[in-house]
Amino acid sequence: MTLDETVACIGAGHAGVQLAESLRTEGFAGRIVLIDEQEHLPYSRPPLSKEFMTGTEMAPLPLKGASWYAAHDVTLHTGTRATSIDRERRRVHLEDGSALGWNHLVLAQGARARTLDVPGSTLAGIHTLRTLNDAKGLRAPLARSNRVVVVGAGFIGLEFACAARATGLDVTVVDPAGRALARSVSSVTAAALVSRLEAAGTHFSFETSVLAFQGEDHVRRVLTSNGDLDADLVVIGIGVVPRDELAHEAGLEVDGGIVVDSALLTSDPNITAVGDLAVSSSTGARTECVQNAADQARYVAQRIVGKTAEQYAHVPRFWSHLGPNRLQIVGTWTGSDNSELAGNPDGAFSIRHYRGSSLIAVESVNQPREHMQARKALESRLSVA
Ligand SMILES: Cc1cc2nc3c(=O)[nH]c(=O)nc-3n(C[C@H](O)[C@H](O)[C@H](O)COP(=O)(O)OP(=O)(O)OC[C@H]3O[C@@H](n4cnc5c(N)ncnc54)[C@H](O)[C@@H]3O)c2cc1C
Repeated sequence: MTLDETVACIGAGHAGVQLAESLRTEGFAGRIVLIDEQEHLPYSRPPLSKEFMTGTEMAPLPLKGASWYAAHDVTLHTGTRATSIDRERRRVHLEDGSALGWNHLVLAQGARARTLDVPGSTLAGIHTLRTLNDAKGLRAPLARSNRVVVVGAGFIGLEFACAARATGLDVTVVDPAGRALARSVSSVTAAALVSRLEAAGTHFSFETSVLAFQGEDHVRRVLTSNGDLDADLVVIGIGVVPRDELAHEAGLEVDGGIVVDSALLTSDPNITAVGDLAVSSSTGARTECVQNAADQARYVAQRIVGKTAEQYAHVPRFWSHLGPNRLQIVGTWTGSDNSELAGNPDGAFSIRHYRGSSLIAVESVNQPREHMQARKALESRLSVA
């Protein structure tokens, strides 16, 4: 680690900003450059589908105040897209024609919202929600709409449905799967959350595919496999696509994301990938949550300064707020062979998942203490592994 070394990071989202902070905390004395195509000061994404949607404040929650970057000697290039990576000369080319040299390159470009390609999908009034500009673009329509159809019963869809319902709109969520949050939580937790949203007036139509959107210029109707729905606003929340194009063009191994090894290195040992776009070579999985982005970035900072030679290991954690319902998950519940409910599914409850007699995950709704205890138990096991 020398003063003339540069760590460049493409993407100043949750992973990129955490990387910069952790590099300084770990004592990295060289140059740190964060590049982001968005013109804004890096901001937190989770509030965009929650309090930002119903609030009046137009400013997002910054990840760091503007002065932090100067105080920590972190160069922030916002409003600048990285267009290619020259691995041989160790340069990143930027949209404005400039190029930046690096000793270590970190790819943290996150993901983009998946779009739905059916007839009528380019009509006005059909939105996705991934960026601050997307969220700003949804607030005015939300205030003047009556009937909202949300396509996708994942977290973004349900969080937006809660926000739309809170403003008094008629909301229907459609999903081709038989239940909500199929990739993220157990069926018991999903059913408990859906019944609370239903009690608050949101309608659900499962096992329902969208066939087309209709309207003159603006969406007025959604044709589905289960009948037609009137709508003057549609939000598509059907998952994300990792932004791995630059890596692919640069010849790095890409397979549903940028493939990383147990040290989060790509197929080029001078290039790391972290956050939503990194896919593990051993599990073939990507993890899309703030905690994963931050934990991976912290680990990479330690690895760059030579403070760890260990493999990356962490206990996954996730949270979401659906109105007053605070969901927290620690561990990975898939693979459990028995589960135990503690509490009341109509109120505060937790579900503890076991493989054999080993606790592997806990899902909690409005039980933060239970979550913290489970987290300590699962993390302490990691530290002795
Ligand atoms: C509305 C919303 C709500 C969410 N709620 C939660 C929640 O409650 N809990 C939770 O754990 N997670 C939540 N998430 C997920 C979480 O935000 C992501 O997992 C996290 O942002 C991933 O961090 P990242 O750094 O990998 O990517 P991002 O934060 O997406 O950052 C990637 C950055 O790279 C930039 N970029 C991409 N390509 C280029 C390029 N070529 N040149 C320059 N810059 C580029 C992008 O502009 C972006 O700023 C939510 C996400 C959204 C969209």
